[in-house]
Amino acid sequence: MNNNCNISQLALQGVQDLVPYKAGKPIDELERELGLTEIVKLASNENPLGPSPKVIKAIQTALPELSRYPDGNGFALKTALAKKLNISMDQITLGNGSNEILELVARTFLEPGLEAVFSQHAFAVYPLVTQAAGAVVKVAPALNYGHDLDAMLALVNKNTRLVFIANPNNPTGTLLLSSALKQFINALPKTVMCVLDEAYFEFVTADDSADSLTWLIECPNLMITRTFSKAYGLAGLRVGYSISSAEIADLLNRVRQPFNNNMLALAAAEAALTDKAYLAKTIAANSQGMEQLTSAFKEMGLSWITSFGNFVSVDLKQAGVPIYEALLKKGVIVRPVANYEMPNYLRISIGTEQENQFFIDAFKQVMATSK
Ligand SMILES: *Cc1c(COP(=O)(O)O)cnc(C)c1O
Repeated sequence: MNNNCNISQLALQGVQDLVPYKAGKPIDELERELGLTEIVKLASNENPLGPSPKVIKAIQTALPELSRYPDGNGFALKTALAKKLNISMDQITLGNGSNEILELVARTFLEPGLEAVFSQHAFAVYPLVTQAAGAVVKVAPALNYGHDLDAMLALVNKNTRLVFIANPNNPTGTLLLSSALKQFINALPKTVMCVLDEAYFEFVTADDSADSLTWLIECPNLMITRTFSKAYGLAGLRVGYSISSAEIADLLNRVRQPFNNNMLALAAAEAALTDKAYLAKTIAANSQGMEQLTSAFKEMGLSWITSFGNFVSVDLKQAGVPIYEALLKKGVIVRPVANYEMPNYLRISIGTEQENQFFIDAFKQVMATSK
């Protein structure tokens, strides 16, 4: 037996090269570390209003059934989604968060030698799922922090199978013009799948919104992913979905675990769809909160990237990590984005009015002493 065998070297090269995803710091971790009692977390783009009361009730109703397996086909939720979106049920794939859908897509379409294209500053899960499949990552330089579609198209070659586009993008919040996006998808070879990640879709006002669902008919290589984690306030339950051709959905369905969505999550998501007042309140609170934060930035002489999501990235004109750490000591958790090649920025999720104010007060103190 060779006792010097290095297990790490047995892993796929892509996995060896992976940098694990770094999540926002959990509230109780900071509580333990610093013994603070008042903590505000604006680090993971969660809904600050808490879940809808309809969701709580649906979960309570579902609890006695917990000894049963969930419906592996998610019939009730898919029916509700199909009706709401005016699509066919067989176009929907449910995931354990839309992150799982991203992983299913990578496992379905990528292998060593094949490539996935995305933008600089794009969502961190795209390189993760691509490398985990052993495939090659191709990153197009961003244009003013937004996706440069021409640069992305230039990276497409005969080995390309996937293009990931986050619209709006996280952590920049940038949004593509609907016409430019459609033109880009039409220009892609039909051998390349476009994964359009619309995790923040609900926050985009109608005027700016891309009517991407209607493109599916003429673009068989398009798939759209959405989530219940953000505007619907169910991040802790993990429910996301994709809308694609039935053919693509069938492929993803072969790769997924049979019971990838748990029973409570399915019931909760279905209930969340019915609470239109909650969604409206969420969106209104978000635009007020965005105004509250950006007004404070303006007053402080700071600039930020105009965001169409429920978060905003602010330019500190100095390294973000020390400011992040100083904010932690004051009980405020935000997100440093150096790992997104944005070392001088912090990303702030929009909270309630009180949470935003707590952050603004702490931020002003920290910035005043850091110069
Ligand atoms: C938050 C987020 C997701 C969704 O994550 P879930 O797995 O659905 O919780 C997907 N894409 C982007 C760009 C995100 O920011």
